[in-house]
This record gives sequence, structure tokens and C-alpha cells, in this order.
Amino acid sequence: MRPLSLKLAAALVLGAALASAAGKGGYAFYYTPEYLRFRKRIVDEFKKMPPGRFSEFTHRSRADKGAGHKVIALTFDACTGKPGGYNKALIDYLRAEKIPATLFVTGVWIDRNRETFAELSKDPLFEIENHGLLHRLCSTSGRTMYGVRSTMDLSGVIDEMELNARKIQQLTGRRPVFFRSATAYTDDLSRKVAERLGMEVVSYDVLSGDAMKDDAAKISRNILEGARHGAVVIMHFNHPEWPEAAALKLAVPELRKRGFNFGRLDSFTLR
Ligand SMILES: [Zn+2]
Repeated sequence: MRPLSLKLAAALVLGAALASAAGKGGYAFYYTPEYLRFRKRIVDEFKKMPPGRFSEFTHRSRADKGAGHKVIALTFDACTGKPGGYNKALIDYLRAEKIPATLFVTGVWIDRNRETFAELSKDPLFEIENHGLLHRLCSTSGRTMYGVRSTMDLSGVIDEMELNARKIQQLTGRRPVFFRSATAYTDDLSRKVAERLGMEVVSYDVLSGDAMKDDAAKISRNILEGARHGAVVIMHFNHPEWPEAAALKLAVPELRKRGFNFGRLDSFTLR
């Protein structure tokens, strides 16, 4: 009787986990028994720790010490958006000017833009990083900001980080090393979980203002005012109707005049 009831209990636990996974944006097929065991191990490691500080800043300078040159990182998120939610004019400009950039993508955006994603991930100009599977703000206690949906617990944080890392690795052959949460808000515990999963949580230093519907001139001013060696600029590339390309056409020549180079996050990180 005993082995049978143990088996039954295991089946029930797995069934419940799969049932709860089924509601997760159509990604139930990621919740394999292997993944659920992996996730449980990580949850067990962290479950007694407090969430800690909830904020959008990681307070870590990315400056490349002693390099003797000025580098700035242009980073672009693809949150969710409609199929075709892709700012081609922006990417074309980066390519024409040979400006390396870091692209943070969600699993949802990848699935709605498969061909574009494949093309971008093959271009050595671009570094593909992790913006979460479903574009959830990562909080181990369900805290949120700006009304964005957040993860409710450790399991949710791990799903958001790990499942999209696996997805990106499967499609590109490279596992992401940086993670940026929706809205860039996270708690300390989520940052530790990311580290355990082999990723570093990245926020930003310069808010371009594109998501606040600033116009090209204002976005350019925001970038120029915040520019300093090691700074991470946050923008988006999933809204073709937003004026990032026009803004960069204003800001980039001025940044170059001031002696800045552009670098992907993986090129001037402290790791
Ligand atoms: Zn986002």
C-alpha cells in the first residue's frame, strides 16, 4: 500500500503543479517534472530568507575601471506588444551606425516575433538578454509597481527568470547572463535567486523617457544629461510608433563628439 500511496501523492502534487502551470500564459509545456524538481530545490534554498529591499536600482557601477575611455551601454527592452511590435527603424539605425546594443526580450515577445528574433540573435552587434518569460515584475512577496502584474512568490520569480533563460538558450545556443524585471523593480531576494540561476539583475542609470511618451528631442536630452562612463541607458524596441530612432539620430553624434563609445553590457561588465 505504502509505495502506491506515495506514488499517488506524487502524482497529485505533480498534477496540481501542472494544473497551476496550465494557467501560465500557455507555457504549461515548460513545466516538465525535471523543471519542477529543479524549481523546488531552489525554492527550498531560499524560502526562509526575507524579501529585503524592493527597488528599481541595484547600486552597482558598471564602469570599466582604468580603461581610459568612455563607454555607455544602450539597452532596449521588448516587453510584450502585438505581433510585429518591432521598431525596425531603430534597429536599422543601430546597424547603419555599427552601434552595439543589448536587447532584453520576453518569452511573449519572442513568440510573437519569431523571425525577427532569430534574425536579431544572429547579428553579432546585439547581445540578447532576459526580460522574463511573461513580463512580470519579480517580487517574492507579490509587490508591484505602476500596476504591472508581478510574480507572487519564489516559484513565480524562478519561472519568470529560468524559463525564459532556457527558452533563449534553446533558440540561440547562448544562455543569457543578465536579467531585467518588468519595470526594473525587484526585491533583494529575487536578485539572489537570479545570481543562483547564473544571471545578474540589471537596472538602468539613465531613463530615456520613451515609455513616458517623451518626444525625440526630449529623449535625446535625457540621454545626454545622464551620459557618463559606465552608464546604462534604458529604452524599448517593441514599439514601432515610438521615436527612439529619431532621438538617437540627435544624441549619438553628440555623444561621439564627447568621446563616448558604445558597448554591449557583456563587453564592459565587472564580472
Ligand atoms: Zn518591459
